Amino acid sequence: MSSPLTRQATDNSGESSFEFSFFCDRCGKEWKSREKPFTQGGFTVIKDGEIQRMLREQEHRTAFEQANLEAHLHFNRCPLCGKWVCDDCFCAAEIRHGGLCRNCSPSAMPAIDSNSLSEL
Ligand SMILES: [Zn+2]
Ligand SMILES: [Zn+2]
Repeated sequence: MSSPLTRQATDNSGESSFEFSFFCDRCGKEWKSREKPFTQGGFTVIKDGEIQRMLREQEHRTAFEQANLEAHLHFNRCPLCGKWVCDDCFCAAEIRHGGLCRNCSPSAMPAIDSNSLSEL
């Protein structure tokens, strides 16, 4: 199982469906994956608890991988600090770097004189 894209993610899956939440690394804004029903591998009724548990585990993993992939479309990776942030926390105008999060974007920070920046 891959690790979640954002530092904070929760599993809201219930008995009959799978759903995951991912949170912006900067402001904590939540993005929820689309709820996926547990299909029991396409079998209609499975009485065997062990098989059901295995199928559920498998679908749970697949659902998570899909949600995790989809999260890439909803969050932006800051190339400087490596955080995954929501659109609100992302400054796409920082084209020199291909976009930066608002923690790293100089234009979003309180005035820093250019001398101190060039020393970096
Ligand atoms: Zn955010
Ligand atoms: Zn950053």
